Amino acid sequence: MGNENCKQLGELCLVATPIGNLQDITYRAVETLKNAQIVVCEDTRVTRTLLSHFGIKPPVLWTYHEHNADVQRPKIVEAVRSGAKVAMVSDAGTPLISDPGYKLVRQFQEEGLPLTALPGPCAAVMALTLSGLPTDQFFFGGFTPRKSGARQSYFKALLEVPGTLVFYESPKRFKDMLADMEAVFGDRDVAFARELTKRFEEVRRADLKSFLEASDLDTLKGELVVLVGPKRDTAPKEDEIEAALVACLATLSVKDAAQEVASRFHLSRQKVYARALALRGDEKA
Ligand code: SAM
Repeated sequence: MGNENCKQLGELCLVATPIGNLQDITYRAVETLKNAQIVVCEDTRVTRTLLSHFGIKPPVLWTYHEHNADVQRPKIVEAVRSGAKVAMVSDAGTPLISDPGYKLVRQFQEEGLPLTALPGPCAAVMALTLSGLPTDQFFFGGFTPRKSGARQSYFKALLEVPGTLVFYESPKRFKDMLADMEAVFGDRDVAFARELTKRFEEVRRADLKSFLEASDLDTLKGELVVLVGPKRDTAPKEDEIEAALVACLATLSVKDAAQEVASRFHLSRQKVYARALALRGDEKA
């Protein structure tokens, strides 16, 4: 074209990599890493090992982590402006999920630069799917504060979340974390997923009390995702109330049956009385 301003832009691609089992990489991820002129990573040693496993000759490797992100961001932007294909990986899993990168994405969006992501492994999502806890709504809480007081405050802010809570944690702090969970959440269902996709993969679900009593949790090893089920639904179900009323009406007056059921389920006596009357009416009809 002969016009400097029409120079083709490159692209930044966020590439998910395995969280243990190296076979969990997509064809597109391998292709993208092969074709990248620059691979941005957390730790060059980890990424070199990954690339060499797939026979990829290491291109230029740049690091990007919390201590150099402000310096590296403009370099990455400039590289893509100058036409470079840049792939970004983290040490494992999906970049930006409890890993650095979101400010870089924001800058690319703001500057209208080409940006895409290749989906793949993420420990939080795999743990959730295997946990046996509800998956329709969930909240990813990442790593929690290390000190008990701060961790309890962190949990308190999540008390009303209507879905499963997902956290990353080190096995060393797991027992302390459970104790803080019990203090804040009471006896909810809890699960952990350990060493996902690896040889000693393990997923366990129980109520918090049973976990606290388990004797083998002090010696857990490997990487860990911890999940807490949503608040238990303690409201009585309509059919439970009706069954109790029918049973009481068999031996008690409408008034007494209503009183008994209202106090058992903590309901308004008036409303239960109306239902009891209706039921008695149905019986007579
Ligand atoms: N970006 C990654 C992802 O997509 O899952 C997470 C990075 S974060 C720095 C690392 C944490 O993820 C670990 O401390 C652990 O809590 C969790 N994790 C990573 N790999 C795991 C695995 N194979 N099994 C269980 N948890 C894992």
